Amino acid sequence: MKRILITVTMILMLMAIMSGMAYAGTGITQSDIKEGLKFCEEYPVGLSLDGQRIAFSQSDVPPVIVKERTLIPARALFEKMGGKVTWQNDTQKVYVTYDDTEVVLTIGSNKALVNGKTQNLEVPALIIDNDGDYYGSTMIPVRFTAEALGCEVGWQDSTRSVLISSPVKGEEPVVTEPNENNSTGSDSNTVGSWQFDQLHEAAKGKIVAIDMGHGGKDSGSIGHKGQADELQEKDVNLAVGLKLNEYLKSAGVSTCMIRDSDVYYTLLERAQKANNIGATIFISVHNNSSTAASAHGTEVLYNSKVNGDGENEQQLYGIDSKTIATNIENEMVSILGTTKRGIKNSPEMAVLNKTSMPAIIVEGAFLSNENDLQMMQKEEFADHYALAAAKGIVKSLNDAYK
Ligand SMILES: [Zn+2]
Repeated sequence: MKRILITVTMILMLMAIMSGMAYAGTGITQSDIKEGLKFCEEYPVGLSLDGQRIAFSQSDVPPVIVKERTLIPARALFEKMGGKVTWQNDTQKVYVTYDDTEVVLTIGSNKALVNGKTQNLEVPALIIDNDGDYYGSTMIPVRFTAEALGCEVGWQDSTRSVLISSPVKGEEPVVTEPNENNSTGSDSNTVGSWQFDQLHEAAKGKIVAIDMGHGGKDSGSIGHKGQADELQEKDVNLAVGLKLNEYLKSAGVSTCMIRDSDVYYTLLERAQKANNIGATIFISVHNNSSTAASAHGTEVLYNSKVNGDGENEQQLYGIDSKTIATNIENEMVSILGTTKRGIKNSPEMAVLNKTSMPAIIVEGAFLSNENDLQMMQKEEFADHYALAAAKGIVKSLNDAYK
């Protein structure tokens, strides 16, 4: 009995010492951590990766702010990003690797290694036990680690969220400014027999990201495959996108082309580029195909997004993808003379759900349909497609920003 009492007393003493204990040399005390946990329980901190909110598992300690630095469970974010997180118990080290960067954090140490080079941390990685069960989670400083791996890190006050953009592979996208006032000074120009409106002053500066679907090793659909007049979707999309860029610039719209040559990017990379540049509209130029040779016409896909706080596109951007899709579908059918297949809510499409802004995919015509393909073989197809898409975008922007 006595022995048990002594043991209990010792445990209690040890706990008392530990609760006040500072992590040697870091300036962080247990009460800093307790304070942070209490505050974040009342005002939870969210985390999003490329516009997608990260969900934490029940066993995770949710993000906690200690001395103005946010700590997150090591695995939640970086494994989702495609990185690797390993924990070495005997050395108390966390290894986070992504692409060719390795970050090594040691529990309670203000020194971290980034590809072998020592860097200083203001708040170290910590083992935090939020519910008093003495099973802690390994928590690491999110900004330091993410930036070391090449991510962009931001903070959104309205949602109390850490916003992470994963690193852009390949070239950084560039915004091209619209053309200087195009001589006439009027509100619209005519292109062929079509009237083409100029962008309202209130919509100036909004960026339209133009994504030409497929490219490089990915040809997309192929019409008349193996024949002399074989047509690859990636080439049509590129021709359309380049013209679309010209039309938008001439109307006063700032643009950013996701690709402007015959190169391949993954769907995620395309979305990330648009996210990183802060585009207001993402348009992906495609053409269609079907095993049913009779399928033909134009359709536009959209994704009515709602963020983690229930805010819709209209509330977040002042413009929504369904309206843009409708406007482009109407212009396409009118200018190209294609069959109206309509607009489709398609949240499953990667470029529509990995982009944070209103995004649409235009499927101009079917390479698998004889009549559509004949139209697509003609020189003016890309030009008319581009004009229709540009008109639809400018109308959407002008209606939204008056
Ligand atoms: Zn396609």
